[in-house]
Amino acid sequence: MSLKIYLDGKFVPEEDASVSVFDHGYLYGDGVFEGIRAYSGKVFKLDEHVRRLYDSARAIMLEIPMPPQEMAAKINEAVNINGLTDAYIRVVVSRGKGDLGLDPRKCPRPTVVIIAASIQLYPQELYDKGLEVVSVPTNRIPNECLNPRIKSLNYLNNILAKIEGINAGVIEVVMLNRNGYVAECSGDNIFCIRDGVIRTPPVEAGILLGITRGTVIDLARSKGLQVIETNLNRFDLYVSDEVFLTGTAAEVIGVVKVDGRAIGSGKPGEITRTLKAAFEELVRS
Ligand code: PMP
Repeated sequence: MSLKIYLDGKFVPEEDASVSVFDHGYLYGDGVFEGIRAYSGKVFKLDEHVRRLYDSARAIMLEIPMPPQEMAAKINEAVNINGLTDAYIRVVVSRGKGDLGLDPRKCPRPTVVIIAASIQLYPQELYDKGLEVVSVPTNRIPNECLNPRIKSLNYLNNILAKIEGINAGVIEVVMLNRNGYVAECSGDNIFCIRDGVIRTPPVEAGILLGITRGTVIDLARSKGLQVIETNLNRFDLYVSDEVFLTGTAAEVIGVVKVDGRAIGSGKPGEITRTLKAAFEELVRS
């Protein structure tokens, strides 16, 4: 069935949802985006995602041509118009159509796209058994070059890391920052647990402030668990009792091997399973 896509002010059939080859989102990756989920007909953390989108846009001096409330309404409409209840939603705002030069002043109107599609979940087996990850040579981009808090259309840094992981036989990777500390994964945030204490890299480590990350930190604290945002190195991961990742697509997923070292018992750990269950309850409540 053909999806209806929001493109520049109206919903059009997916066959007609095309963007110019002169769009600077295409030519230069000049733009921002969000990945959002809807569960049982309700968009999860919609306000948080819209806020992050507008923050990303502001940081790259891109003015989204509608107020945040209207964006939120269009995101809801994109889900409803396609008759979806559980959905993965992609919002993309690019600099728009310009000429072949870099100058964004040649792009008078940003392009706004909202795609609400059915969700492709990771196989259940990965959640039961846990993921294997490796750390990769490509470091996360330093904050002062292109802050990873900006969810920009420039994902080449993450894609290179992902390719290095695929070449090593894994589907997710640990990216370090240039100081050698753990930053995040190619499309997920990372946590580790030792002696019951949960630790995750701080924003200064050069990460996207994941909305799932924030949700899981809140859930853990509400259960009386200690969560510390602190620099971690690979050693900290290797000696952890548990490691898990968070992200909109993956939700909460256990990691059982890092750079060939088995983590804990080699199975997703107890706290990971507790937090995963709590997250599932939250999104389905
Ligand atoms: N880090 C990166 C680089 C990501 O692309 C994502 C996915 N958007 C995340 C972390 C997780 O963020 P969220 O929980 O908001 O999906």
